[in-house]
Amino acid sequence: MPLFSVDREHALELDQRDPLARFRRRFYLLPEKIYMDGNSLGLLSRDAEDSLMKLLTQWKGLGIDGWMAEENPWFSYPEELGRMQAPLVGAEPDEVVVTASTTVNLHTLVGTFYRPEGRRTRILGDELNFPSDIYALKSQIRLKGLDPEENLLLAKSRDGRFLWEEDIIKAMDDTTALILLPSVLYRSGQLLDMEGLSREAGRRNIPIGFDCSHSVGALPHRLHEWGVDFAFWCNYKYMNSGPGGTASLYVHKKHFSQEPALAGWWGCRKDRQFDMSLRFEKAAGAGGWQIGTPQLLSAAPLEGSLRIFQEAGIERLREKSLNLTSYLMSLVQELKLTEPPYNYRLGTPMEESRRGGHVAVEHRDAARISRALKARGIIPDFRPPNVVRLAPMALYTTYLEVWQVVRSLQEIIDKGEHQKYANVRDTIA
Ligand SMILES: *Cc1c(COP(=O)(O)O)cnc(C)c1O
Repeated sequence: MPLFSVDREHALELDQRDPLARFRRRFYLLPEKIYMDGNSLGLLSRDAEDSLMKLLTQWKGLGIDGWMAEENPWFSYPEELGRMQAPLVGAEPDEVVVTASTTVNLHTLVGTFYRPEGRRTRILGDELNFPSDIYALKSQIRLKGLDPEENLLLAKSRDGRFLWEEDIIKAMDDTTALILLPSVLYRSGQLLDMEGLSREAGRRNIPIGFDCSHSVGALPHRLHEWGVDFAFWCNYKYMNSGPGGTASLYVHKKHFSQEPALAGWWGCRKDRQFDMSLRFEKAAGAGGWQIGTPQLLSAAPLEGSLRIFQEAGIERLREKSLNLTSYLMSLVQELKLTEPPYNYRLGTPMEESRRGGHVAVEHRDAARISRALKARGIIPDFRPPNVVRLAPMALYTTYLEVWQVVRSLQEIIDKGEHQKYANVRDTIA
């Protein structure tokens, strides 16, 4: 980890030297706030606003002809956005499509690739994944007429924070029909070794998929090269596409001949879709996994956002993101916030190769410390039971803001500011 000094001057220097600093101006920052929650809902950029307005203008001026408009035809917009996003995840242009929501995409992809047969009936997941994924996996098992109690195996965490890849690999056996894992754990921020896990799964002929909701837009991927069979992610976190922004899915080329589990007319070959034939002819690429008419108003902001990512470059964004989180963690340590009377604990891997874009700061009073941070104009995320989740965004967070947040963690305890609040979460944490 690079060495950082704890004084404010150093934060200002880091900002001055930041090659990505200019992107901050492209975003609508919240006045008087420090926004550390971009991994739950990214902020609006002017670029995303423009692409949404462009779509509204088309609707206003063209009505139904917007579907085949000369410029930006809606008919192929989901595939076009997929092509634009593909480089961010290391996919070929037709392996990604922007469609539906994260959990719906999980359903159609797991439904497609989970084919229990003979002894191979189980899905291997992990106990730290986001609850929606686990609910969906259980219902997919039930849909195949099987019992989730017997057929969902969740790799255990040894410490409640992290997963050990070797434990997951050990759990892959001749009863495993499918593996579904998160790329980055939503609580601790651990980045799993997607390449190694995919290699091991491939060796055993087990299809493997990743929920990349917490990694897309935060770090580079090589989904195609790693042999990841399928993946899906939401675009309203690091991708800044807005609340309920249309999600994405990826399918490796070698599976393009598979039939989608949840077929619908939007997955038809585009040239045949309006034949209105009752025989489904699947589109050649990932577009074949679309179900119904795309939610274009929720997809349009992604276009502008993707242009920002193209300009900034995901490698450079990753480098800054690691610097921001390293800086945050080193301030916590250097200011001795892990010792009494502070007693914070860093619940995120120190090794850069094992870390996503956010930092979990643990404390037994995390719920009320989050409230005290909010009272100071800092917007964190609280994740039960004890995590203050802090996500400095490479596109718009400054080093000075990180410095202010860590100093606030210190001052809240110094002044007992958290003691005014009950140690419970709000409805939306
Ligand atoms: C955010 C997130 C989701 C959200 O699912 P939606 O269908 O968009 O509500 C799912 N899984 C993970 C791991 C997430 O981080």
